[in-house]
Amino acid sequence: MKAAVVTNNKSVEIVERQLRALKHGEALVEVEYCGVCHTDLHVKNADFGDVTGIILGHEGIGIVTELGDGVESLKVGDRVSIAWFFEGCGHCEYCNSGRETLCREVKNAGYTVDGAMAEQCIVSADFAVKVPDGLDPAAASSISCAGVTTYKAVKESKIQPGQWIGVFGIGGLGNLAVQYAKNVFNAKVVAFDISDDKLEFAKRLGADEVINSKNVNPVERVKELTDGAGLHATVITAVAKTPFNQAVDVVRAGGRVVAVGLPVDKMDLDIPRLVLDGIQVVGSLVGTREDLKEAFQFAAEGKVTPVLQKRRVEEINTIFEEMEAGKIEGRMVIDFTK
Ligand code: NAD
Ligand code: ZN
Ligand code: ZN
Repeated sequence: MKAAVVTNNKSVEIVERQLRALKHGEALVEVEYCGVCHTDLHVKNADFGDVTGIILGHEGIGIVTELGDGVESLKVGDRVSIAWFFEGCGHCEYCNSGRETLCREVKNAGYTVDGAMAEQCIVSADFAVKVPDGLDPAAASSISCAGVTTYKAVKESKIQPGQWIGVFGIGGLGNLAVQYAKNVFNAKVVAFDISDDKLEFAKRLGADEVINSKNVNPVERVKELTDGAGLHATVITAVAKTPFNQAVDVVRAGGRVVAVGLPVDKMDLDIPRLVLDGIQVVGSLVGTREDLKEAFQFAAEGKVTPVLQKRRVEEINTIFEEMEAGKIEGRMVIDFTK
């Protein structure tokens, strides 16, 4: 089968690969679509360590074609996800307390185990989440990372209906953050980016306000919008240090800042600001299987609509160049159906 594999020169090669036989509890999935996440770009650039030889991809959707021994949760013909949270140990403090993505024994698709940017993929059956009927499989691919991650991040922000939330970075993740915040959580949304095209995009998706944080002082503008108080929460999906600092600066006292983007950098945190204003800063990592089920359901109901373009796997290195240049609107999705 054809697979997109990380090479040792920070590039991706399309190679022929043979998958091993299924083990107990595993299923074989014929991949239909796999979205290209900015995390794939970090992985192939070795930002989190060298993973030469691994098959990329954690926004995968496909159909189960074969079952290993002992599989009870799936049947042949089911449509399932292949997500970053590929498998947890199932018995640690995190797995047993609704925080399974933090499992210390976790396996991550397209990073520590072979992922979904291939014609076929082996999954751990109990961890593959079923896609609801009525949700287009290409759209589902975007939900399996970008969607669930931003749905979970907005949940973590503890935003209430009618409150102000800021989304920093209107890329593959951010555009879905705007939609979940607006259409599921009923919040008032301010979109921040440094590209006017991305801000226009955010407006089309329903953002109440947009701020180009390169041209306009975000703190001053937010004060005008909120009677001097600031936003109730922010979610940062941008891949740079500055927006992390701005996201702290624009929240009101007691505000919550949810970090999602993964620039390899440090953010500044003014200690008196943190303490005297009771600011909460939390990291949020993808979502649990239950979060993904919920995120899928909202998309199936039409509350959230991924914006995507289908591409061929051979275009993967070009897609990464477009991503680095900030040229992509929504998501590029590798189409394995042809
Ligand atoms: P993307 O490239 O599609 O989008 C990034 C967006 O950030 C673009 O719209 C870009 O214009 C904007 N941006 C860049 N610099 C900015 C700045 N200074 N201020 C404001 N906006 C700025 O990327 P993506 O696929 O949406 O992923 C975003 C980040 O989230 C990546 O670092 C990725 O690894 C990470 N991620 C984290 C999780 C998680 O679980 N925490 C899951 C998926 C992805
Ligand atoms: Zn991702
Ligand atoms: Zn565990």
